[in-house]
Amino acid sequence: MSKEVWGYHEHPKRREPDWEVNSQTAAVREGLARSGFGETSEALYLNSGFTYADSQEALDSFTDETDHFLYSRFHNPTVAMFEKRLAAIEGADYCVATASGMAAMFASLACLVEAGDHVVASASMFSSCHVVITEILPKWGVTYELVKANDNAAWEKALSKPTKAVFIETPSNPLMEIVDIRVVSDLAHKVGATVIVDNVMASPVLQKPLELGADVVMYSATKHIDGQGRVLAGALLGSFEYINEKLIPFIRHTGPSLSAFNAWVLVKSLETMDLRVTRMCENAQAIAEFLEPRKEIKSVRYPGLASHPDRAVIAKQMKAGGTTIGIEFAGSQKDAFKFMDALRVIDISNNLGDSKSLITHPASTTHRRLSVETQAEMGITPSVLRLSVGLEHIDDLLRDITQALSS
Ligand SMILES: *Cc1c(COP(=O)(O)O)cnc(C)c1O
Repeated sequence: MSKEVWGYHEHPKRREPDWEVNSQTAAVREGLARSGFGETSEALYLNSGFTYADSQEALDSFTDETDHFLYSRFHNPTVAMFEKRLAAIEGADYCVATASGMAAMFASLACLVEAGDHVVASASMFSSCHVVITEILPKWGVTYELVKANDNAAWEKALSKPTKAVFIETPSNPLMEIVDIRVVSDLAHKVGATVIVDNVMASPVLQKPLELGADVVMYSATKHIDGQGRVLAGALLGSFEYINEKLIPFIRHTGPSLSAFNAWVLVKSLETMDLRVTRMCENAQAIAEFLEPRKEIKSVRYPGLASHPDRAVIAKQMKAGGTTIGIEFAGSQKDAFKFMDALRVIDISNNLGDSKSLITHPASTTHRRLSVETQAEMGITPSVLRLSVGLEHIDDLLRDITQALSS
């Protein structure tokens, strides 16, 4: 059987820039591994396994003597392109991609903790993250304490005790509460805790937790990274020590691997992420400013507004206000529902960070799993809505909101 393939020749390695490129350049170029066909775009390696030239190469590969791929549960060329590209954008040493944001979140803690360990987390969290920390880990003897996002005295008190890991979501979903990443990281490191930041709401475009002192960044790539409503994915980024010594041994054997197809979708999404998120933020800023003075609205929570209680911290750690707005209606749940049902452009959906603008009623959907008391602590009342602002023309979004408010 011929091994010759028409048009195939080893791809000559081009010289790479000998300067550090900007993250927008990395988003288009970094991680690309061209095959001998010299394809422009990233190839999809939709294969579960790999072959070896001979048995010695197999042996050498399994004893880490080569960088030969072994099995797509461990790694895959298309997944590796996505991981390298995201790591370059984030400014992290290493990245591991996972099948969903929750797979990343669970693995980020499960690879660190054992029975008797203690975890401290910010109180306002995505509801599944809340379930992992307050219901699943305690079954295995891991204790926890939740701290109000911007209460630095409470963080100091909580982090005076031995702690294995700190998990923070900032801004929080849906009410845009802010944790000072620098302050909490410094406190956590004094007691030897690893700081993991759920950076989903900010996206890699707006906030760089590693530069602010955090150890690990977690993403649901389902949100702004894909940002076009197609695939589920997650990612963890951090140092060689965390990724190679803690995370990979856990992940390889428990199997939350990202599919090569989804990685191929995501590697292209990264190329446009900066453009998309930048435009979405501009739209969100305009909508937040439009809504704030309206009499139908009790309050607007958006990090880009001067009225946000944590303006000073936001100015230190975020490049813009983000794509998502927390809106509290002056009326009841009925009024909030009436508004949602009258919208004609903005869709009702529980997703966020999408090119399509999406509106959610957290109390009855995304955060329904939490008790009424926990919802109240997070400020999620029945008249709160979450608006994820997309890429539509701002005039159409404002017109849609105006007509729905007056209905
Ligand atoms: C969506 C989301 C997650 C979970 O991600 P999935 O990809 O849905 O598993 C975690 N944290 C935050 C803040 C999210 O918005």
